[in-house]
Amino acid sequence: MDSARQKMNIDGYLYPQADELTKAVGEAMALQAIPACPGHAILEAPLHGNTIVVRNRTLSGPLRVVTEIEIHTAASEPQHWEEVSPAAKADEGPLGAARRLAQLNIFALLQKITGRTPGPWGILRGVRPTKLAHRFFDQGLAVGDVITRMQDYYGVTGAKAELVADIALRQRSFHLTGDVAKKTVSIYIGIPFCPSRCLYCSFPSNVLPADRGKVEAFLEALELDIKAAAAEIDRYGLTVQTVYIGGGTPTALAADDFERLLTLTRRAFISPLTREFTVEAGRPDTIDDAKISAMQRAGVTRVSVNPQTMQEKTLKLIGRRHSVHDIILVLEKIRSAGNPIINMDIIVGLPGEDEGILADTMDQITGLSPDNLTVHTLAIKKGSLLKSDQEGFDLPGEGAAARMLAIADSCARKQGMVPYYLYRQKYMADNLENVGYALPGRECLYNIQIIDERQTIIGIGPAAATKAVDPGDWRLTSSYMPKDLSTYINHLDKFLDRRRELLARLMES
Ligand code: SF4
Repeated sequence: MDSARQKMNIDGYLYPQADELTKAVGEAMALQAIPACPGHAILEAPLHGNTIVVRNRTLSGPLRVVTEIEIHTAASEPQHWEEVSPAAKADEGPLGAARRLAQLNIFALLQKITGRTPGPWGILRGVRPTKLAHRFFDQGLAVGDVITRMQDYYGVTGAKAELVADIALRQRSFHLTGDVAKKTVSIYIGIPFCPSRCLYCSFPSNVLPADRGKVEAFLEALELDIKAAAAEIDRYGLTVQTVYIGGGTPTALAADDFERLLTLTRRAFISPLTREFTVEAGRPDTIDDAKISAMQRAGVTRVSVNPQTMQEKTLKLIGRRHSVHDIILVLEKIRSAGNPIINMDIIVGLPGEDEGILADTMDQITGLSPDNLTVHTLAIKKGSLLKSDQEGFDLPGEGAAARMLAIADSCARKQGMVPYYLYRQKYMADNLENVGYALPGRECLYNIQIIDERQTIIGIGPAAATKAVDPGDWRLTSSYMPKDLSTYINHLDKFLDRRRELLARLMES
């Protein structure tokens, strides 16, 4: 009967109950990009297009949710739809279960009404699906049960449930527990400069100032920040497991400043127990012989070069000032200097690219034999140049990003790599994900720790987050450095105090 009804677009929704399920209803609607509409919209349906009224009620013992949707259109009498959820699970709290079940109902109803599936991740909107899989593994579930739960609980497709369970299982050998976990941290240092702004970037990055005074003021603040973090590490007798210098583009700094940063970092944090020292050297045009030598002297073990595409035309379009040849040359130089594990990043779904072009990029990447490859899906984020002029670009059609992701996955696996971390972002093409692949034994530990949130990470530099993780229950508390560069430089003390208090609460508990 449902399939006989005509599929339709929904322009807005109304949830008149305004109760503890309101937020969950809004999130389920957001997956289909359906906005809330004002109360009078239903009376004015002809003006507002197709609008729906949503109502939920619960059935007790065991808890179920019944969701009713009434569709108001200009052309016909209101239509009525209803979905009864499966029963809540025994290990769920009633409110959490009601929210989840209401979302599953809305997800199912909207697919029937609109004929559209909002991507393969079901009702999940969070950025870290692996954390959910870890929670299930912590309860003692076997892989097969984790896969089934991801599907049943959240409506995730079988393929994505398998992917996330496979990755989470692989990550578990990297997690520490108990006292060792509490006393082991990673360090993130953010350098907020880039040589130019990429088309899709929403990061609070600045083009490197020409004014030497500004750069010097930043470096002085950063030095205070690094020394304050090192003092915390001494105070609590912590081991630094990994260090990651990211951004921005750290190699955008002048060679002397870059070496100063690496020397400070090495002295403050690197010990024989440190397993990894990564530098993001994202743009090939910022890397030269002096910076490669500086990385070697400082003992950097991993370098990330992030071309995003191996197509000249696309590089120009996204605002890069380097060629494909520059990427190849820089990788050769880094390798021949004896330097370390190489990571590369690409993005699927860039303007003007299709499956054939992506396959060509993957062929070229294969020829360069990176140890790690992170495959991002394009996200059109607020604050990016792409978002402000979206119509002006030839973006891939519906389903193309998913096909490109599959091509990249197949190429990475053919190179002997396996997926080892995964995360999602808002506004991703086809509502997909980013996946990191590595040759076995060449995984980036920091990437696992930052996504799984099972290790304390001390954040240094503008916009950096410090995440204090209690290994007793994996509870997370955070403090943030300001995004704005001037605020960071002028009010650093205040933010250092907050970080100190956050770490004290964790370490002295
Ligand atoms: S390199 Fe990264 S941080 Fe810098 S502008 Fe491009 S996307 Fe933004």
